[in-house]
Amino acid sequence: MVFLVEVTGICSICGRAGKMYTCSLCGAIVCGNCYDIENGICKPCKGRGKSIHKDTTNL
Ligand SMILES: [Zn+2]
Ligand SMILES: [Zn+2]
Repeated sequence: MVFLVEVTGICSICGRAGKMYTCSLCGAIVCGNCYDIENGICKPCKGRGKSIHKDTTNL
């Protein structure tokens, strides 16, 4: 069950203030630009969703 609750805060990804969403995967508070509403997750989570075993790529 996913609730899209509108909250105001600061994006944990890009640092912008405004209307925020909560990633259902990692729990990050992110803005609309950094959030994939279709999947209910933030874009970093979406990006590593397909290669979850390769999380040290850019580290
Ligand atoms: Zn953002
Ligand atoms: Zn996330």
